[in-house]
Amino acid sequence: TGAVVDTVVGAWWQARRWCPSCERETEQHRHRCGTTTVHYRGVSWLGNDAVNLLCTVAGAAAMGAILRIAIS
Ligand SMILES: [Zn+2]
Repeated sequence: TGAVVDTVVGAWWQARRWCPSCERETEQHRHRCGTTTVHYRGVSWLGNDAVNLLCTVAGAAAMGAILRIAIS
């Protein structure tokens, strides 16, 4: 679950990048023109540590839910 959340969070918040050379949105860190793209949209305060914490919490919550179903 943590890995899935990591992927989803990454897709939502870390995939929006900008090529300043072509002035185009891209998902690649290096655009096909060779220019290194910049992160231009997303949750700027949500760094890697916060994402990892979110994934850990989500994984723990999912495990809790699974255990609750298994016990009852
Ligand atoms: Zn480009």
